Amino acid sequence: MHFTGTVYRNPYWPTWPLLEITQGCTHNRCKFCTMYKDLSFWMSPMEWIEEDLKELSETDPDARTIQLLSANPLVLTYDKLAAIFEMIHRYLPRMEYIYLAGRVTDLKNKTVE
Ligand code: SF4
Repeated sequence: MHFTGTVYRNPYWPTWPLLEITQGCTHNRCKFCTMYKDLSFWMSPMEWIEEDLKELSETDPDARTIQLLSANPLVLTYDKLAAIFEMIHRYLPRMEYIYLAGRVTDLKNKTVE
């Protein structure tokens, strides 16, 4: 698995597999948060994401929930997110829920379509 920087796991759901699709935080200005202070934001290469999904399909093929990392993956465009979600479905066909932590400012830039 490609975990390149800060990794957080939701303590309430410790068994969900993690998939890093971005690293760092585009905002990085919340006064209470130091998680990504020393990291630049970047998107994981699609090759890494696919390699990690292949690995997860071998270690956790029946996974129904996955947690995406890192801070605000919703900042990615719809086209990039859709390609990643389709890849998740291809490698983990029983997937039902995709969990991530996102900023409202990233979500408000998306249209309903
Ligand atoms: S948006 Fe989240 S990760 Fe980014 S600085 Fe604020 S609390 Fe930290």
